[in-house]
Amino acid sequence: MCKNTIQFQKGIGIRQFLANYGNEDQCESALISWRWPDGFQCPKCGSRSFCKLHRKAEFQCNCCRCQTSLTSNTIFDSTKLPLATWFLGIYLVTQNKAGISALTLHRQLGISYNASLRMKHKLMQVMMERDNSWQLSGFVQIDDAYWGGERHGGRRGRGSENKAPFVAAVQTDADNHPIYMKFNAVDNFQRKTIREWAEHALKKGVRAVSDGLSCFRGIEDAGCQHTAIITGGGHASMENELFTWVNTMLGNVKTAMTGTYHKLDPKHLGRYLSEFNYRFNLRFDMPSMISRLGRAAVNTAPMPDRQLKLPDVQWQPG
Ligand SMILES: [Zn+2]
Repeated sequence: MCKNTIQFQKGIGIRQFLANYGNEDQCESALISWRWPDGFQCPKCGSRSFCKLHRKAEFQCNCCRCQTSLTSNTIFDSTKLPLATWFLGIYLVTQNKAGISALTLHRQLGISYNASLRMKHKLMQVMMERDNSWQLSGFVQIDDAYWGGERHGGRRGRGSENKAPFVAAVQTDADNHPIYMKFNAVDNFQRKTIREWAEHALKKGVRAVSDGLSCFRGIEDAGCQHTAIITGGGHASMENELFTWVNTMLGNVKTAMTGTYHKLDPKHLGRYLSEFNYRFNLRFDMPSMISRLGRAAVNTAPMPDRQLKLPDVQWQPG
């Protein structure tokens, strides 16, 4: 089965990674090719005629004299870190299935904790925006979950204030194998909130199953089919094959997040979950995650400190 192929795929070893992206020039060339696949183009006048300035990775347009840095207007904007450090960060973040904490990044990259925390959040932001740009389709198992503790059995959907709610959704194929996942933080489990989530996360016509929590009627409001299967929660829902994967993956993600991050700020739960979505959804091709994330990063708007610290904006309004 393909499961073993995925688990035992070669990935990209650190030697291979360093051979490809080990020095500043290699990283700069890669970033140029991702940002301007057809060659440099002046962002102001559109001209393709330029000269490179003495400073590294700065371009000057030959027509309008406008100067552009390779990292300006990207998530790397205003960074003081060498590109090679960023690339190594991308390597560590994408190739570790259970995630990597800012503290470990700080140690392994030899940068300050504040710098590693910024890097980690910027990369998670890139993953979140990327993950939000497409939708699940076909058959989808859905469950409600909380970060910071979950009640088994009993009443559900009423997390206390220190529990951050999120929706767990897994797309499965005809053989009930998991294909893609989307775990997204939500404000609450109200019908209109779930409707808004479904409009962003699910293609119209998705066939969804949930355990019948009343807010999930919001899925129907978003133009999807929805079957509520009353399981009674707890062990009964674990045993229902329709929920096998969403339950399994919820367990895996919570275990990994607890092990790697211990505690995390609930206002950034969306970013942390997106990191798991991103890696899982690209698990068939781990080496390509580096170039894919790099390409997404140069197409992600800058995020100054102030903005980085605000609560996540899961979906851009409008
Ligand atoms: Zn120009």
